[in-house]
Amino acid sequence: MASLKDKVVIIAGASSGIGEATARRLATEGAKLVIGARRVERLKQLAESLQDAEIYYQAADVTKPEDMEALAKLAMDKFGRIDVMFNNAGIMPTANLSELRRNEWRQMLDINIMGVLNGIAAVLPIMKKQQSGHIIATDSVAGHLVYPGSAVYCGTKFAVRAIMEGLRQEERENNIRSTIISPGAVDTELYTTINDPKNRERVKNNQRTPGFGLTSEQVADAVAYAIGTPENVAISEILIRPTKQV
Ligand code: NDP
Repeated sequence: MASLKDKVVIIAGASSGIGEATARRLATEGAKLVIGARRVERLKQLAESLQDAEIYYQAADVTKPEDMEALAKLAMDKFGRIDVMFNNAGIMPTANLSELRRNEWRQMLDINIMGVLNGIAAVLPIMKKQQSGHIIATDSVAGHLVYPGSAVYCGTKFAVRAIMEGLRQEERENNIRSTIISPGAVDTELYTTINDPKNRERVKNNQRTPGFGLTSEQVADAVAYAIGTPENVAISEILIRPTKQV
C-alpha cells in the first residue's frame, strides 16, 4: 500500500467524531493536514495534541464557499499542493416529515449536500491543474436505505452518493479519484444535532450502546485505507457497519 506520509489532506468537519479521529490517524502516519470546522476551539485543542504533526487549522463553515476556498488556500500556501479533500461535515436533525421542520430540512441540505459541493468546488480547479487528487465524502448506510423519520437526512446522503459518482465519471481522465465512506452506526456526537426528543433518544441508544456502534477510529481506518491505495486504484465506496447492525 502507498504511504500516507507527506500526503496533503484537508478535512472539513474535523472538530469531533469521524473527522477528528481521521486527523489523528493521518497525523500519526505523517500526513500534512489542514483542518476546518465551526468550533475552532476544538480544532485548536486537536492541533495542539498532535504536536509532532504538520497541522494547520482554521474556522470554516462548509455552507460558505469562501470558507472552503480559504481552507484550500491555506493548504496551497503551506504545502503547495492538495492531495486529498475529505468532505466529512454533516448533521442529522431527523424527524418525521409531518412535523414540517423546514429550517432543519434547509440546514441538512445546506450542510450535507451544499457543503460537499463547496468542498469539491474549492479543490477541483487545483486538482485538475495538478492532474491528481482524491476527493472523499462521508456518506452513510442512509445513502442506500430510507428509514422512517429520516427521509430528508437519507435524501441528502443519496444525493451525495450520486454527486460523488458523477464526479468520478467526469474527472477520472484527470486522474482525480472519488470515494465515499458509508458508515452504519458510529459512536459520535452526531445524535446531539437531533432536536426531536424521541428520535434523539432512539439514535443515541443505537449509536452509543457500548459494544454496538463502531468507533470513529474504526471509520478513520477505512478513510486511511482509501487514501493509501495507489493512484491507479479507485475505491468508489467503503460501506462499513457494526456487525450486529441490520
Ligand atoms: P460529529 O457530530 O461528531 O461530527 C460532525 C462534524 O461535522 C463536526 O466536526 C462538525 O463541526 C462538522 N460540521 C457540522 N456542520 C458544519 C458546518 N456547517 N461547517 C463545518 N463543519 C460542520 O458526528 P460524526 O463524526 O458522526 O459525523 C461525521 C459525518 O459522518 C457526517 O457527515 C455524518 O452524516 C456521517 N455519518 C455518521 C454516522 C454516525 O452514526 N455517527 C453514520 C453515517 C454517517 P462543527 O460543529 O464544529 O462545525
